[in-house]
Amino acid sequence: MPLGWAGDREGPRDECGVFGIYAPGHEVSRLAYFALYALQHRGQESAGIAAADRGGNIMTRRELGLVSQVFSENDLRTLAGELAIGHVRYSTTGSNAWENSQPVHRSEGTNGSRSELALAHNGNLINAVELHDELVGRGVTFSSTSDSEIVAALLATHPAERIEDAIADVLPRLQGAFSIVAMTKEEVVAFRDPHGLRPLALGVIADVGDAASPEGKSGQERTRRNDSDRYCVASESCAFDIIGASFMRDVAPGEIVTLGRGGLESRRVDSEARKAFCVFEYIYFARPDSRMNGQVLQVARARMGEILAREAPADADLVIPVPDSGNAAARGYARASGLPQDDGFVKNRYVARTFIQPGQELRKHGLRMKFNPLPEVVAGKRLVVVDDSIVRGNTTRQIVQMLRDAGASEVHMRISAPPIKHPCHYGIDMSTREEMIAHERSVEQIARELGCDSLAYLSLDGVYEAVGATRATHCDACFTGQYPLDGTDEAAGKYALEVAAT
Ligand code: AMP
Repeated sequence: MPLGWAGDREGPRDECGVFGIYAPGHEVSRLAYFALYALQHRGQESAGIAAADRGGNIMTRRELGLVSQVFSENDLRTLAGELAIGHVRYSTTGSNAWENSQPVHRSEGTNGSRSELALAHNGNLINAVELHDELVGRGVTFSSTSDSEIVAALLATHPAERIEDAIADVLPRLQGAFSIVAMTKEEVVAFRDPHGLRPLALGVIADVGDAASPEGKSGQERTRRNDSDRYCVASESCAFDIIGASFMRDVAPGEIVTLGRGGLESRRVDSEARKAFCVFEYIYFARPDSRMNGQVLQVARARMGEILAREAPADADLVIPVPDSGNAAARGYARASGLPQDDGFVKNRYVARTFIQPGQELRKHGLRMKFNPLPEVVAGKRLVVVDDSIVRGNTTRQIVQMLRDAGASEVHMRISAPPIKHPCHYGIDMSTREEMIAHERSVEQIARELGCDSLAYLSLDGVYEAVGATRATHCDACFTGQYPLDGTDEAAGKYALEVAAT
């Protein structure tokens, strides 16, 4: 993520997707390409793949644009090798510079075969400035303004012979959220912050049964598996389905997994740290067919809708989702309330973040580019409209207006998350506090601003009930303002980075 030194402390942040694979005998860059395709929802601004033949040079291709726009058949042929990592990046601001695309690639030339490394990061460091200053003091130079490059430089300049040892040493100094996939010319190493803020899953290409679990292991203990196993890691398990790999388990918080000649190795750092998995991954960010912490998200989201129906019933005729983010919760709401459900909107699936802006004339049609209401379905109806979240309220305001224009008689908004009131310092763009419609407004005030007949949000307890988890092991700071990592607020002030990225 870029460190915009003059940036707003609550500036934009990015959510990204990462992938890594060690699979001699397979077309690893092609597998990485398809895995990134499945992770496209985690970032539409840039994409990149780094690949290497064991012992050969690391080659990287990264560019602004969607996965399908960035890589040609020729690129994939050129990125030949036995191991690869990949990245998709998302950001909402002007920081969409090529330099901030990933994987980051560094050659320090100091420690033999691992002097060269590539690295892809999902998350956000809250002590990036300190680490940056320290490295600059040691004469390290940077080619981007990215905190991911800081991690790459820390690892590349570390004297340890094995990258895993460098990571184990550096990891406790990294504060914040990180699910990182790195590669040398020899192996892929993935690691997750000890709080487990961002997801990271482990998969296997071959039917080899369950991998050794890190549970119950401490310190530097390792597990080894079969030499012929082929492993991969990804932000979400949906990336495995598309390449024929099987989900094994989540990478544990603080776990370092190595995919290489020795099969799978695992060690764990700081396994006692407070766990803080992001609840917003369950609510909105991750794909519904991904599984995390034992939950298939489609099922968890439908349960959120069921609980929402119990907590906030509505006297209405029909339930419709805001597609696609409200689909699963709307199904749950309809099921639990006994109300019929239909599609009130058709969504254009091809509206992505685009570099071509609509221009003044088209801008007035606003969200119509994305959602078109079906008057035949909604006219004369008292509607329950289900969406996953409201941030600035722009989407909901226009949805309500479009439905009224299409003839709906009443619009009752039901949101399958609590009001978002606080920015995320751990890697999701949540906008600034002042821009959030729930900032210093009551639910009634918000309903008035949005122009709906009623508005209700799922309670935080309802979210946890739906995912079968507790606050003690999760981060819900965007709803509560209670940041689970010590020093987050101060760090936010200090890093003053336009911290985006990853
Ligand atoms: P807004 O118009 O700012 O209220 O945006 C809310 C809509 O954006 C909801 O329909 C969500 O599905 C979606 N959304 C929520 N959080 C995010 C996020 N961090 N990045 C992109 N879209 C989001």
